[in-house]
Amino acid sequence: MIEFEPPVALIELIMSLRAKGIQSRRVLAAMERTPREEFVDGSYAEDAYRDQALPIPCGQTISQPYIVALMTEALDVEDGHTVLEVGTGSGYQTAILAQLANRVYSVERYRTLKEKADARFAAIGLTNIKTMLGDGRDGYPAQAPYDRILVTAASPDIPAPLVDQLADGGIIVLPVGGPHDIQKLLRLEKSGGELVETILAQVRFVPLVPGQASDL
Ligand code: SAH
Repeated sequence: MIEFEPPVALIELIMSLRAKGIQSRRVLAAMERTPREEFVDGSYAEDAYRDQALPIPCGQTISQPYIVALMTEALDVEDGHTVLEVGTGSGYQTAILAQLANRVYSVERYRTLKEKADARFAAIGLTNIKTMLGDGRDGYPAQAPYDRILVTAASPDIPAPLVDQLADGGIIVLPVGGPHDIQKLLRLEKSGGELVETILAQVRFVPLVPGQASDL
């Protein structure tokens, strides 16, 4: 990672995340080291360190920092882990995961977003991320099993291939629900083939869109 001196607005954001209940020092430190302004479009740069979701190209959104922190904390990522992310989007969440894990594989269905994210990872010097263009509902069998899986778009069901590609003892965090519903953010831990479920929060994510990768 490049050297990055956190601006005052980012330090204030980190303090507000602590006040909202985020406790993991590793997660907060990774967020404090990551220039979110690099992951939003220029016109939103001023809002980069506010605790809010912002629009990104292709009608998608960069997640709210609190939700990124909550999901990452619940995922409990360790140094040696291999992580699968579904929905690269801006790449901001991917960048946080990459600083906590050994390697991150991330699937995105929009070429535009994948390529922009790749350029950002190169610019800030993150070299342990591989992005793929495709339908993340299928996971990425080539590198399975994964210690951790994070899904950043909501679907009414839990895609079965993702559960299959999760290692035993692994954790998956994902929003479940329809596009117009209040969705549940779930944490599922795979233990002896069973899934132990915890509801983390009520959330609103863009939909996990089935089907082929778009060429946009
Ligand atoms: N963590 C990202 C969130 C982006 S929004 C960020 O903070 O920037 C969710 C992303 O999931 C969008 O980029 C959307 O294009 C992508 N997505 C939706 N359905 C998908 C699918 N089936 N496979 C892969 N990516 C998908």
